[in-house]
Amino acid sequence: MSLDAVLARIDTDLPQATDRLMELLRIPSISTDPAYKADCDRAADWLVADLQSLGVKTEKRPTPGHPMVVGHLDGDGPHLLFYGHYDVQPVDPLELWDRDPFDPELQDTPRGRVIRARGASDDKGQLMTFVEACRAWKAVHGSLPCRLTFFLEGEEESGSPSLVPFMEENAAELKSDLALICDTGLFDSRVPAITTMLRGLLGEELTITGPDKDLHSGMYGGAAINPIRVLSRIIASLHDDTGRITIPGFYDGVPELSQELRDQWQGLGFDPDRFLGDVGLSQPAGEQGRSALEMIWSRPTCEVNGITGGYTGAGFKTVLPSKASAKISFRLVGTQDPLKIRENFRQMVQDMLPPDCAVEFSGHGAGPAGMFDTSSPPYELARQALSDEWPDEAAYIGCGGSIPIAGHFAEILGTPPMLIGFGKDDDQIHSPNEKYDLESFHKGIRSWARILAALS
Ligand SMILES: [Zn+2]
Repeated sequence: MSLDAVLARIDTDLPQATDRLMELLRIPSISTDPAYKADCDRAADWLVADLQSLGVKTEKRPTPGHPMVVGHLDGDGPHLLFYGHYDVQPVDPLELWDRDPFDPELQDTPRGRVIRARGASDDKGQLMTFVEACRAWKAVHGSLPCRLTFFLEGEEESGSPSLVPFMEENAAELKSDLALICDTGLFDSRVPAITTMLRGLLGEELTITGPDKDLHSGMYGGAAINPIRVLSRIIASLHDDTGRITIPGFYDGVPELSQELRDQWQGLGFDPDRFLGDVGLSQPAGEQGRSALEMIWSRPTCEVNGITGGYTGAGFKTVLPSKASAKISFRLVGTQDPLKIRENFRQMVQDMLPPDCAVEFSGHGAGPAGMFDTSSPPYELARQALSDEWPDEAAYIGCGGSIPIAGHFAEILGTPPMLIGFGKDDDQIHSPNEKYDLESFHKGIRSWARILAALS
């Protein structure tokens, strides 16, 4: 069968594929630091040349920031888009690295061979898994089994300022049948994963003002309202005794898991004791009756990220403060509407304000959750292909964080996204000593070859 020849080619070509990744890793494409602008450009050039060597018509496309790399390859079958990013995070603190972050090395560790460098996992190693799968396919068959568009970004680690405008301007060109996004992880080293749920995020900051100046608590204490007390009461009332969030309408659009997904998650063997034990905790503190995995993947949250007010310096001061403020963030799921929640949250706070108090709000971003329809045929085909490569069956998993690009593909291009990646939890992305397991790289390439075969 034709896939076997491709897989064999991937196995024999692995040393060369690793060398090519190392070349890309040597380019310090730190997107957030203007000092590395030319290096970002160089990384884009490297990718243009590499894709061109595969016969992909590729261009470096300017943006107000770092360039996009866009390439097209004609072919029969479905039109697949592949997204990855070639920029990396800064490397500080440099002294915590065992070696130069841009001098990649293969290292043997107790858990296997790893490629150590900034960007090894996030996202150069990941994006090269797909490129190498295409290379092997081309070498064996002379052409790819589908039509392909490559879309590689250089600003992902600095907030993607050019991404949405670029996608809007080039929507007709980028529109495809399916967008493959390689910037996520495995569930663990045995269980590959397709991430099908991403939580959205809403940020709110509120400042409550009582008296028009700080007061002496001996002179005014008792008679004057204390805004810290008011704020504390409001914060305490945001959750009930069962851990549910009390903002009116908050759970509108929060779906229940299907029985199938519930069973799948049960089967993952997630160990909440270990998960919490790693950070010195023992009890899941979210909604009663929900598993820890549900709490971090499929349930919404309301968390206080910071509180200020009154005297917080050394020693003691009997002040009765004029103001108290808090930063509160919400992780959102399903079809929860961030703007509606913002409105209801602000109304709830207003309703709780006692006389003589005023509140000011400022918003810090509002993005909805992503939920991808796994009932479409490509999802089951890709899941089967992943299961064929890894020891255990692939799972549809959630991700507690946000990956805005996935939503952009759906909203701007009308292209359904699919998030598949081979990173591991201990890859130390964004941290010193980032690594990518050689196994992630090798089996990642093989996984894409299987997925290309399955989707074509
Ligand atoms: Zn990334």
